[in-house]
Amino acid sequence: MLQLFLPLGSLGIVYRQVKYTLADMDMVFRLLETPQEVRDAPNATELQVTQGEIRFEHVDFGYQAERQILRGVSFSVPAGTKLAVVGHSGAGKSTLSRLIYRFYDVTGGRVLIDGQDIAHVSQASLRKAIGIVPQDTVLFNDTIRYNLQYGNAQATQAEIERAADMAQIRRFIESLPDGWETVVGERGLKLSGGEKQRVAIARAILKQPPILIFDEATSSLDSATEQAIQQTLHEVAGRHTTLMIAHRLSTIVDADRILVLDKGQVVEQGTHAELLALHGQYFAMWELQLHES
Ligand code: ADP
Ligand code: MG
Repeated sequence: MLQLFLPLGSLGIVYRQVKYTLADMDMVFRLLETPQEVRDAPNATELQVTQGEIRFEHVDFGYQAERQILRGVSFSVPAGTKLAVVGHSGAGKSTLSRLIYRFYDVTGGRVLIDGQDIAHVSQASLRKAIGIVPQDTVLFNDTIRYNLQYGNAQATQAEIERAADMAQIRRFIESLPDGWETVVGERGLKLSGGEKQRVAIARAILKQPPILIFDEATSSLDSATEQAIQQTLHEVAGRHTTLMIAHRLSTIVDADRILVLDKGQVVEQGTHAELLALHGQYFAMWELQLHES
């Protein structure tokens, strides 16, 4: 009701905030194709990001009660460091990223950011702090500009162009007849998996959040583009707490810490060199990939 007492000019601002909040919900909803199960606690506080440390404490989770997916998962990502998560398909890697963004609530244990249990903070404040490039990006039925600017409505054209450059998507966008105003998504121009990934990467770069999550973010790209973007991700991640889910191990050898997930459990943890020396699952995966390419 407060808006009624404000001059007309500020209504625009209120409206824009509402629009972005709704878009956020819509995005969350469509990303998962599941109903929104998570609600703000009545006394939810605003997440205060001071450092950007992520901590999992004995986390259990299942999408259905009868099928547990994560079992007693504990790890931490110190502020400003990069944690890579590897493991076979179905191990629960994407599930980890969804729990940090709180698409779902854990069934046991806690997920903390800078010591605050994310179940007790508002979803809006949590999601403001996180930039996520999911495995399968869903774009809004709106212009490319809107899709990039989403998450940072104040971004200038120059900043948008720079982010698109870094994500190797600017030339493609500018080659389209309608350029930045091209409508994409189901009812617009359909982009390939790799193009969508690059839009999502540019969006995350533009958002500049304290926490970044990349979920096999370059899996649909050809290896030349992947290499170029990995370099960018490396630069971008440098200043943020980063969780990088990797399918190609060569892209994460430099991670501060690598976590090997198997059937929802952490089975190995360490640096690339430490894990190789273990001669365990990571070593086996590394050997296998060496011979693949
Ligand atoms: P990864 O990313 O390591 O390949 P996921 O985290 O996507 O693995 O999936 C872990 C397990 O959870 C898989 O067995 C998968 O089938 C199951 N799963 C993933 N998403 C859902 C969902 N929305 N509903 C039910 N089960 C799911
Ligand atoms: Mg996955």
